[in-house]
Amino acid sequence: VLGEKTYRIKAFPSVQGFWIRIEDITRYVAYEKSKREFVANASHELRTPLSVILGILETLYEEENSQEKKALIEKAIRRAKAMQNLVEDLLILARLESREEKLILESIDLRQLVEEIFDMYTDFPVKLINSVQENYTLVADRKKLFTLLKNLVDNAVKYNKEEGLVEVKAYSDGTWHKIEVKDTGIGIPRVHLPFIFERFYRADPSRSRDLGGTGLGLSIVKHIALLHGGKVEVESKEGEGSLFRVYLPILSE
Ligand code: ADP
Repeated sequence: VLGEKTYRIKAFPSVQGFWIRIEDITRYVAYEKSKREFVANASHELRTPLSVILGILETLYEEENSQEKKALIEKAIRRAKAMQNLVEDLLILARLESREEKLILESIDLRQLVEEIFDMYTDFPVKLINSVQENYTLVADRKKLFTLLKNLVDNAVKYNKEEGLVEVKAYSDGTWHKIEVKDTGIGIPRVHLPFIFERFYRADPSRSRDLGGTGLGLSIVKHIALLHGGKVEVESKEGEGSLFRVYLPILSE
């Protein structure tokens, strides 16, 4: 950034040495910013009417006696809830991408955090295994790390098989904290692997939508890891399961 302008500098190796290309990307940056702000504002404006609609539908459901009509209202409630999830995810992602988002760092008991997330999945026919050691602490933004792990566990549960397993573990190699979320689910076909962290990319769109997915979960995971100075990688085998590994730098408070 130089004064009012933003430039992108790229170097290309050549026989004599290398070429440098300097591009003025001021307009592109401004366009990206206004796009992000539009998404954030639109999502914000949709929040209130959506919760009013849901409230009304829930009252109608309670008061309705006809089973046929109840089924219809239930369908509408499910759709409205899916929309609510989408609006929330869009807002989270817009904030994460805004570059104004700051981390609030604190010391976190990881085993306890994982337990809090697991408590939200008591009704699912999968086995949840918290293999994080007792007193494993790390410094990160608690709310964001919760969202990151919740999204990974959510997928590990959603794309699992009946009686499947979901295991979370953590270890450190002196440079990184590595947190792994592993499942014994349907896995991800190789061709899709390079794209799954992109917004709205789904390996199996109809299945994902039926399961209440927004297509934004892994983008949010990626952005939260990046904001911490970390990254995410995935290993997966179709029909056998997936392993998502999050790298977070070892920080002090
Ligand atoms: P969605 O809301 O569709 O789950 P995500 O961004 O969380 O969106 O994930 C993108 C896609 O990656 C999913 O639609 C699914 O096809 C695939 N995926 C993510 N996690 C898993 C997993 N643990 N097992 C199998 N497929 C997965």
